[in-house]
Amino acid sequence: MAPSDMFFPFGSLSLFVWAFHMVVYHGVALGFEALDRSGRLRRFRVRRPERRGWRALLPLVLFNQCCILLPAMLLLERAGLAYAGPRHLNPVWFVACLPLMGIGHDVVQYAGHAAMHRLGLRFLGHRVHHGTGASRAVSACYMHPADFVFQIVLPYLVPLVLVGGGGADVAFHLLTVSLGAVGGLYEHSGYDFAPALAGVGGRGLLARLARAAAPLASSHAHGQHHRFADVSFSDGFGSPGLCDTLLGTRWDRKRPPRRGAPPGEASIGETPPEGAPPAAP
Ligand SMILES: [Zn+2]
Ligand SMILES: [Zn+2]
Repeated sequence: MAPSDMFFPFGSLSLFVWAFHMVVYHGVALGFEALDRSGRLRRFRVRRPERRGWRALLPLVLFNQCCILLPAMLLLERAGLAYAGPRHLNPVWFVACLPLMGIGHDVVQYAGHAAMHRLGLRFLGHRVHHGTGASRAVSACYMHPADFVFQIVLPYLVPLVLVGGGGADVAFHLLTVSLGAVGGLYEHSGYDFAPALAGVGGRGLLARLARAAAPLASSHAHGQHHRFADVSFSDGFGSPGLCDTLLGTRWDRKRPPRRGAPPGEASIGETPPEGAPPAAP
């Protein structure tokens, strides 16, 4: 009997991790939705919510999570490539795997994402995701199913397999899957707390920490990607932004493309200016 069989009523560690991810993802998405409806923290909103609400975006998100992400995770566990093995990772390896997963995510997502924009791979349906303006948290997984494979499934699972699959270490899997979910939700929420943190006055330790944390709390990079399409392919909240920095495509290093640029350059998913309601996909 595998360790995961012994400890989870789910009978499978990958199923348990997926279920936990669903609770985190939809709990946080509903939290942002509640903020929108109450108007609280409105001053931190940098992009106006698009006209399609949470209810309209939810079915495709659930389809992707239930019919693509879950089977992929179950398959890896069945193959022994992830969610299987020792119940506890070596603590040093546990810590080392976090930045390694971040770098791997950056590289895999950049490769797939940049290819869609640069090579004009329209059949992968990336336009569906760009039909949103990164202005509702739940839209983080609102994508054509083929696009979902390249943007979400492979950037999460390929690095996981490459670092050895994370064993059957529950804490490791819950932490990595939650960090990924929360990062994606925040950068698609339309909120940005970085300017407020950067503007904290005073010389105290807390004030200095808040200012130092400001660049890390920015959701601007992915917002710029939704706006200009040809910048920041993997640079975003929680991402090291490695490939965008090395290849010169960070939003703050590259001049945005002209509107109406020829197909294959930036036209996939070019979205209206911030604040304008995007067209339906
Ligand atoms: Zn996006
Ligand atoms: Zn894109």
